[in-house]
Amino acid sequence: MTTAAPDVLVTAREQVLERGVGLSEAQVLAVLELSGDRLSELLGLAHDVRMRWCGPEVEVEGIVSLKTGGCPEDCHFCSQSGQFRSPVRSVWLDIPGLVQAAKETAATGATEFCIVAAVRGPDARLLSQVKTGIEAIRAEPETADINIACSLGMLTSEQVDELAAMGVHRYNHNLETARSHFPSVVTTHTWEERWETLRMVRDAGMEVCCGGIIGMGETVAQRAEFAAQLASLEPDEVPMNFLIPQPGTPYGEYALLEGAEALKTVAAFRLALPRTILRFAGGRELTLGDLGAEQGMLGGINAIIVGNYLTNLGRPAQQDLDMLDGLQLPIKALNRTL
Ligand code: SF4
Repeated sequence: MTTAAPDVLVTAREQVLERGVGLSEAQVLAVLELSGDRLSELLGLAHDVRMRWCGPEVEVEGIVSLKTGGCPEDCHFCSQSGQFRSPVRSVWLDIPGLVQAAKETAATGATEFCIVAAVRGPDARLLSQVKTGIEAIRAEPETADINIACSLGMLTSEQVDELAAMGVHRYNHNLETARSHFPSVVTTHTWEERWETLRMVRDAGMEVCCGGIIGMGETVAQRAEFAAQLASLEPDEVPMNFLIPQPGTPYGEYALLEGAEALKTVAAFRLALPRTILRFAGGRELTLGDLGAEQGMLGGINAIIVGNYLTNLGRPAQQDLDMLDGLQLPIKALNRTL
């Protein structure tokens, strides 16, 4: 007589919630294959895991683009690639504009301010702009203490050391999708090159922020593969984006991910990554709407980006802050050394 395999959510309750051990790739796949009528049970468990292993605080971040558009790479989802007909053109932000964005971010109560550039990797000019920008942000009383993160593409080991010396505390570099799917998303560089940057960032003592985009034609099995690959990286933060089909890019005609599918994926990633900061990033407004965003905040997410994204408008920051207030989820404060 054969015995039925234990239900994956029963297993997850004991393994992830009680012991803090993330789900394996096969277990994540089993979660992603659950029927729709198990969604609220799944979201409830993901929320319990987040509360148990991360606590109730929500990390709030603002992002600013220092250099927009004109990137030589061909990431098929990206309107900032110079290889597609998308309408984003190359623009640089000046230092006063950068400081102003940092002030607006700090005024929301955010603890993180991420400086982003659309490049394959930084050149000397960009790194010098970042250095000057960080010094200017540190010189203002309102922003002197905010944590500064950067997302500047692939790095050499010297550049990793330079950024660490500037006081960059977290570096974002997304693997974007499962290793097996990456070659159909990007052809101008490899998943392994991205991984190498992440390894060097970790070794230099900066926090690792690494996530991706769901809804780029990957299979459900590849979503599970991606969750497991992220778990093996042990990132401090995973930003989760849902594809916004950008006009003029190869994915311009792709369909939006269904809201229920997005929520299920968020919850499954939480069960694979019980202690990671899991951030709602681009695409949540379109994919989930207001109600879905609240469900996500109670389904495994514990961080958000407020304000606008790089090439897409978000909703007003105050609307998100009111949402967190309504859900009685406190905003994480800066750890000040007394
Ligand atoms: S490297 Fe970054 S900015 Fe450049 S095309 Fe890819 S995702 Fe866009």
